[in-house]
Amino acid sequence: MSTSTMAPPQRPNIKTALPGPKGQEIIAADAQFVTPSYPRPAFKLVAERAQGVWVEDVDGNVFLDCNAGVAVCSTGHCHPEVVRAIQEQAEQLIHMCGTDYYYRHMPALAKKLDEIVPVPSPTKTHFANSGTEAVETALKLAMHATGREKFIAFFNSFHGRTLGSLSLTSSRSAQRLGFKRAVLDVTHVPYPNEFRNPFAEADCGDGGAAQGALNWIEERLFKTTTPAEEVAAIMVEAVQGEGGYVPAPKTFLKGLRRICDQHGILLIVDEVQSGMGRTGKMFASEHYDVQADIVCIAKGIGSGLPIGACVARADLMNWKPGAHASTFGGNPVCIAAALKTIELLQGGLVQNSAEVGAYLKSGLERLQKKYECIGDVRGLGMMIGVEFVTDRDSNKAAPELRDRVEMACFERGLIILGAGANTIRWSPPLILTKENVDVALEIFDEAIAASI
Ligand code: PLP
Repeated sequence: MSTSTMAPPQRPNIKTALPGPKGQEIIAADAQFVTPSYPRPAFKLVAERAQGVWVEDVDGNVFLDCNAGVAVCSTGHCHPEVVRAIQEQAEQLIHMCGTDYYYRHMPALAKKLDEIVPVPSPTKTHFANSGTEAVETALKLAMHATGREKFIAFFNSFHGRTLGSLSLTSSRSAQRLGFKRAVLDVTHVPYPNEFRNPFAEADCGDGGAAQGALNWIEERLFKTTTPAEEVAAIMVEAVQGEGGYVPAPKTFLKGLRRICDQHGILLIVDEVQSGMGRTGKMFASEHYDVQADIVCIAKGIGSGLPIGACVARADLMNWKPGAHASTFGGNPVCIAAALKTIELLQGGLVQNSAEVGAYLKSGLERLQKKYECIGDVRGLGMMIGVEFVTDRDSNKAAPELRDRVEMACFERGLIILGAGANTIRWSPPLILTKENVDVALEIFDEAIAASI
């Protein structure tokens, strides 16, 4: 585990109580000095080193990682080629501040994004350090480009925690509690979750939840609280992430595109979690055959280095110097990691995400047949949600059971993480193999059996 020349482990290896003695010391120090606002799960992982899909904790326990640092380590932990690209760049130029000076990395990555992002070319890119900053950029740009200031977003969405993006985020009240009124004028619409259709049958017609949501916007919002001509943008996740790994219905994004085109509204797709190969295509919106006006990217693009990007139609980016910038955004080392990541994704990992993701999903569907408490298995590529319910007749959410399963997996050496109230998300590194999947499913099966 400690050197890259060693053969990778085949199975997790848990040899201490969790967390072990060294882990407990670190957790105690963390409790003393680090903000308690991080929403950490009940299980406590204290990571020391990681390679590929394997994470070793500070006490020498080895885990199979099916979360990838929350959908970030797309190429696996410390991919040797990414590490080399980072090292080589760090020896040349670590920082220069792209807001004041030039370096070749920024146009190189922006050109690459122009080729791969589902926004009509030509595009321009603003570089940031995180998902929330990519979203902030999109919001400011939409206001600037349209001269409008209202937004439409969806319940259970997550777009970040800075004040602008927080105005759209709506997956948990804890994210809002204490921060008073939202700074932006946002109207939320129920997300068309097909497993839990929030719309009345009469509102859906024969178009299902997608039609329900589109009607809600056109027939209710536009005719009451939110005149279409005042809306700057609709912001949507093609697959809701933190809200529970819920893919939008097939026709939904096309419907949003039509509404936006009809009213001069911009369509912003937040691909922070669903982008960079996660869903078996480079971007989730490709499954929906839709092009956005603006796309937000972060997480998986840097294989763990902090980089975000807001890619927009070039004609929208007609703002003046000073309108938006970032000291660190698009740092040369982060861009070197991103360029190498994209090369690896295009060189086979997106395809692996589709193939091995389908293998994982079919294994989870087998478990759904075995266990009455699995209400839904859904997702694309390696972005798969497993929703826990008390029983399949009522489909009543079973959040405590989900938490028990999450913990039981951890105790057996499998890292998975909850999303939404009662769903487990599978967001492994995109290098995951079928052999890894077999091990993960065996543990998941045991963990469910031990938790019900
Ligand atoms: N948008 C989506 C869809 C996300 O999933 C996240 C983070 O989970 C964000 C935005 C915010 O990203 P960050 O935590 O890097 O600010």
